[in-house]
Amino acid sequence: MLIALLGGDGIGPEVVAEARRVLDALNIDGLHYEEALVGGAAYKASGHPLPPETLDLAKRADAILFGAVGDPDCDALERHLRPEQAILGLRKELNLFANLRPAKLFPELADASALRPEVATQIDMVIVRELNGDVYFGEKGVRTTADGKREGYDIMSYNEDEVRRIARVGFETAMARGKKLCSVDKANVLETSQLWRDVVIEVSADYPEVALSHMYVDNAAMQLVRNPGQFDVMVTGNLFGDILSDQASMCAGSIGMLPSASLDAHQKGLYEPIHGSAPDIAGQGKANPLATILSAAMMLRYSLNLSGEADAIEAAVAKALAGGARSPDLGGTHSARDMGDAVLRKLN
Ligand code: NAD
Repeated sequence: MLIALLGGDGIGPEVVAEARRVLDALNIDGLHYEEALVGGAAYKASGHPLPPETLDLAKRADAILFGAVGDPDCDALERHLRPEQAILGLRKELNLFANLRPAKLFPELADASALRPEVATQIDMVIVRELNGDVYFGEKGVRTTADGKREGYDIMSYNEDEVRRIARVGFETAMARGKKLCSVDKANVLETSQLWRDVVIEVSADYPEVALSHMYVDNAAMQLVRNPGQFDVMVTGNLFGDILSDQASMCAGSIGMLPSASLDAHQKGLYEPIHGSAPDIAGQGKANPLATILSAAMMLRYSLNLSGEADAIEAAVAKALAGGARSPDLGGTHSARDMGDAVLRKLN
């Protein structure tokens, strides 16, 4: 099994290094690693944020562990050369259409949530966001109207195959958890959403054990902060999922804690923390590596079918937190290396 390690920019390489130490400690037979440059680091070395050799490694690998991309030195570059294009390119080239973001609050971190602790501690959900379609990928531009005014437009669309495949990921994720799926749309206003809802209902016939509900996105945003405990798995489109998953993550504590997976149709995936390259703290040892360590656990569970090892990592993270490991974003003074050490001590 080949794992591509793409550290990227800023704190990316620092947090990926800690995840690698945790993976090494598990001594998993047949796992090997190759590293490559991506993002600003790749641009500086070779003139492109996603060079052919990096894309080739990503394609050959069974799974990809990704840090983050983004470098202030590259902010003035043309859009297609900016570091962030690397992650968009990987999603597109590898057909990673399903983004899974678990949002679960470790009880020890109840104070880190933007919500009251008694509400925050109820959160234990996964948001399944479609990643390859919707208004982000439709025709777009700025045109001039008949009366000479500028008008921006972005076309929103989903075809039934795109909805069906992400709905299946939603139902499968629910089957592996609490068997509750909430599909989020705006079917009262949008034709795209009405088709989305119709197709999700069609797919539900194959999953009679899953309790399916539907919610308009405005209500879902409200319910996420009012009563997040009601959700098990939420499935939604690219635009709504972008917003709701960030909202859910802040309800569940620090940005340094939250992992994610982006999967293709064959469980190959790219695993990354939800945070960016954090240039403000890069190189200072202040990054919290737990989101990346938890992303490595997701990688073992979803792409390598090693759920026992994934459970072991998640348990070690919980024990490290219970034992008082706190990086600066969690109100403590532990360095990235200290946090990695704390997890390693609890891993057995
Ligand atoms: P960011 O997530 O990098 O940082 C936001 C804030 O959170 C900063 O104060 C940072 O110090 C803190 N933070 C983030 N991760 C942390 C961690 N692991 N431990 C402790 N603190 C942490 O977001 P930003 O500042 O908006 O973006 C910085 C760069 O990252 C930009 O170039 C942006 O485009 C890029 N970005 C990349 C990705 C990605 O690679 N998938 C995602 C988001 C942003």
